[in-house]
Amino acid sequence: MEFVTSVLDLVGDTPLVQLSRVLDRPPAVPGEGPVVLAKVEYLNPGGSVKDRIATRMIDAAEASGELQPGGTIVEPTSGNTGVGLAMVAQQRGYKCVFVCPDKVSEDKRNVLRAYGAEVVVCPTAIAPEHPDSYYNVSDRLSSQPGAWKPNQYANQHNPRSHYETTGPEIWRQTEGRITHFVTGMGTGGTISGVGRYLKEQNPDVQVIGADPAGSVYSGGTGRPYLVEGVGEDFWPETYDRSVADRVIEVSDADSFAFTRRMAREEALLVGGSSGMAAFAAAQVAAELEGTPEGRDAVIVVLLPDSGRGYLTKVFNDEWLGQYGFLAPSSDRTVGDVLR
Ligand code: PMP
Repeated sequence: MEFVTSVLDLVGDTPLVQLSRVLDRPPAVPGEGPVVLAKVEYLNPGGSVKDRIATRMIDAAEASGELQPGGTIVEPTSGNTGVGLAMVAQQRGYKCVFVCPDKVSEDKRNVLRAYGAEVVVCPTAIAPEHPDSYYNVSDRLSSQPGAWKPNQYANQHNPRSHYETTGPEIWRQTEGRITHFVTGMGTGGTISGVGRYLKEQNPDVQVIGADPAGSVYSGGTGRPYLVEGVGEDFWPETYDRSVADRVIEVSDADSFAFTRRMAREEALLVGGSSGMAAFAAAQVAAELEGTPEGRDAVIVVLLPDSGRGYLTKVFNDEWLGQYGFLAPSSDRTVGDVLR
């Protein structure tokens, strides 16, 4: 019989899928490249790349004694990291409390509760110094006895998880032929860990960050953008500034249009940060097309999460339209069908 005893054993070892239709050409053969391969992280059991860091951060906190049996994990997150932490916490018998601002959708809060976590919602419309603010509540909760805060923006086990798992997987899966690695940056854990590992194997591997226009990583000031999970208005400690060879700035419009194409043309229902990274990878492929270097180019792009969490946003024509982005094509009306 073939089975695992916990869903946690299914974290990692995600596949690479070749992209071609979104590049407007037939799939390239390795050696007659550029070849673009997508690492599909939504196939992790919690649905995102963050399952990797959740597992590694908790393992390390258990080993160091920071997290004791029956302890409580407290983190100010409502997104993918929360799901990863909630999943690992439940399986290992820890309590989990997430602090999130009230602008976070009810659907996201319910996902965390479904895993057994507690969600504390804080009002956005109050000053950070207010006792009920997001920052103060999470500080108070994490300073209670038995509480441990992973702090994904400073915890070095975040990049380490990618150095130990994501990077080696990509190296093995491409048989060492990877020439370019493209990924978005939030905490910077993915690019720092994977980039460092790949460069240790082959210093010529180009590490390329994709970044929403406005974020600090591409020289912005933190001006708002709509793509979620990537881009920052500060430099996290988990980001290694020496690792990226290049950062490609991508507009919200290009990110969302490409996210929709990924679903319609590659049958990869991914989130906006995946569309953003895939757009940057397509740009790299286009630059290499027809060059001597391009023949052997193997570009790996990491797709962090699924589009399921964004059905009312990126995949909703009205939402896109509201921000002035055109949906690629709409469903037909009854009139169109009968015409
Ligand atoms: N995309 C999504 C949807 C994310 O949640 C994150 C993590 N914030 C990222 C990309 C970026 O990954 P990292 O934090 O490793 O830079």
